[in-house]
Amino acid sequence: MSGSAARLKAIDAVIAFEAPHPTFTPAEAPGEVYGKNVFSKAVMQKRLPKAVFRSVMATIEKQVPLDPAVADAVAAVMKDWALEMGATHYAHVFYPLTHSSAEKHDSFFEPDEDGGSIAEFAGKTLVQGEPDASSFPNGGLRSTFEARGYTGWDVTSPAYVLENPNGNTLCIPTVFVSMTGEALDHKTPLLRSQQAMAAQAARVLKLFGHDDPGTIVSYAGPEQEYFLVDRHFFLSRPDLLNAGRTLFGAKPPKGQEFDDHYFGAIPDRVLAFMLHAERELFKVGIPAKTRHNEVAPGQFEIAPMFERSNLAADHQQLLMVTMKRVAREHGMELLFHEKPFAGVNGSGKHVNFSFGSSTVGNLLLPGDTPHDNAQFLVFCAAIIRAVHKYGGLLRASVASATNDHRLGANEAPPAIISVFLGDQLTDVFDQIAKGGATSSKEKGTMQIGVDTLPVLPTDPGDRNRTSPFAFTGNRFEFRAPGSMQSIASPVYTINTIVTEALDFIATALETRLAAGEDFHHAVQKVLEQIITDHGAAVFNGDGYSEEWQSEAAARGLKNLRTTVDALPELVSPEAVELFSRYGVFTERELHSRYEIAVEQYELSIAVEAKLSVEIATTSILPAAVRYQTQLAQNVAALKAAGVEADTSLLEAVSAPIAALRQAIVALKAATFEPSGHGPAYARDVLLPAMTAVRAAADELETLVADDLWPLATYQEMLFIR
Ligand code: ADP
Ligand code: MG
Repeated sequence: MSGSAARLKAIDAVIAFEAPHPTFTPAEAPGEVYGKNVFSKAVMQKRLPKAVFRSVMATIEKQVPLDPAVADAVAAVMKDWALEMGATHYAHVFYPLTHSSAEKHDSFFEPDEDGGSIAEFAGKTLVQGEPDASSFPNGGLRSTFEARGYTGWDVTSPAYVLENPNGNTLCIPTVFVSMTGEALDHKTPLLRSQQAMAAQAARVLKLFGHDDPGTIVSYAGPEQEYFLVDRHFFLSRPDLLNAGRTLFGAKPPKGQEFDDHYFGAIPDRVLAFMLHAERELFKVGIPAKTRHNEVAPGQFEIAPMFERSNLAADHQQLLMVTMKRVAREHGMELLFHEKPFAGVNGSGKHVNFSFGSSTVGNLLLPGDTPHDNAQFLVFCAAIIRAVHKYGGLLRASVASATNDHRLGANEAPPAIISVFLGDQLTDVFDQIAKGGATSSKEKGTMQIGVDTLPVLPTDPGDRNRTSPFAFTGNRFEFRAPGSMQSIASPVYTINTIVTEALDFIATALETRLAAGEDFHHAVQKVLEQIITDHGAAVFNGDGYSEEWQSEAAARGLKNLRTTVDALPELVSPEAVELFSRYGVFTERELHSRYEIAVEQYELSIAVEAKLSVEIATTSILPAAVRYQTQLAQNVAALKAAGVEADTSLLEAVSAPIAALRQAIVALKAATFEPSGHGPAYARDVLLPAMTAVRAAADELETLVADDLWPLATYQEMLFIR
């Protein structure tokens, strides 16, 4: 079957496809199934001996070290529960440095002389696993003679049962470390950073009179964007299949602003998928909220409710796997790539971030009493300092070859990391910077301390969609993360840089108080210093504008446009000092992460370059040449018949064919260069060479006869369902 035949068959198949419409009984209503597969607090309370339950909860809620003695008791109860839930296997689930999840399954059943029995599921099996993990990236952290990695039970993220028609699996969220305890995953640093943040936040809160603020944790609410494409088209496009994005494809004639009516029956098919996916997410305790996203055709968004960030990160990983699986059941492929279609808006994953505890509430809530305002301003100032001081690290936390296609492209924030505060908060900080807020009150103008600052609204009306780090009333929204990545790295980065700022604030306040300064005066002075030193990060204007690029440079803010520019931030002396001071990463761990990220960047672009050569050589060029031959034959036939032949079409096709040939040769040569160039080679040589191939190919797409064109077009993929 020639390429074009495959494409046309795919179109027929899509048209003939009957999307499943699963129906659900009332017993399967969202409220009924929510958390049904989770080894939740309620399940533990019901089944665990009281003392064991109390001990586990102390670990989960108060970060009390896990008592090894309780593991056996929990394991026994967990096993019984899982078997009742139909589990045949258990798996330690971990989050290696690939941004996907990994799991090692073991059977509960072991053969014995009587022909099979239920295996022991002892405490030690629950607590620790030993996956042969040599195939996961480790950046040199594991010596070759010690290929093993260890998984360790994360009590704070509940186990759950994953359903499968062939048998269910008990899934246990775990950390993944080397034999010497070095982090090989995303969860370990996240947990470490939570612990560090709790300690420094408590110091600050103590000064505000909270002697027992509870364990301060950060909360994350991720908004996940994605595309849906019919599986028939997906499978007919080797680039989508292998790289997750289209490496070729001319812009559709109508541009991006298609009307919604083009969608025809889509909402129905997509809605059926969404409802189905939501139900699966509910079962494993993911509080999903879905909604249609109107930005690009075929693009949608799901935003689960915010949770403790460690749990949110685990849930986000499970969400991605679940959504992809359910989409396939509905005959669609779900694309998490940041930029599957050039010229069409890409996908991000906004991470909404706040911190607090059940005792003190959300520390980023402006509050409605002056006293709370002072406390809020201190925590808000911590964020400003953190983002200003470590903007480069935040940028690095979202750096990838795929996200580079999206950041700074007028659909996502620029690579410059700034903070949006809104007019009112900015005004308050401006006043503080001028030596104390002066406010016109009924009794005339007076010098006031921060405790008499105006009451701040919890929902400021002004919103800015172009800022990478925006205050949105009770949280900050980090908009730079890519749709494909784990939210763990942005979250542990924010946790850690905020920890440093809280440490700084606590020390400054403690020092001033020890010198006998009045509390409110001390707070005013510390806030004043922070806004003076770090206010340059505050920007409320249009982040997409040209002027911002130059203004940001004048302010000394970094503009790390590509992953190649951003990754070195991970191993800067400041980063090494920061992460090691708070016990989040050792220098070795940071270097290993840096190396893995560089390698993934190079690999991802190298794969795309090879794919480009292959698709251009074996699909696009042959189609174009076939068409060229037809045109040439036509010209020859006309000439033979004594008719004047118009050669303009033939010439029009021949020029891009020559360009394509040339570009393929150049790209192929570039991919054969011996490696060892460093990541800049991929960015500066391979990517432009790919662009040249694509430019010629996309031009041909607009010229070659449609019945010969081998690849499903943008219009087909985005609009036919
Ligand atoms: P928008 O599209 O306006 O940015 P959404 O309602 O789609 O907002 O998403 C908001 C996300 O922010 C949700 O995941 C929500 O749970 C989360 N969120 C709300 N409050 C907080 C908070 N205090 N801390 C962290 N995340 C929050
Ligand atoms: Mg948002």
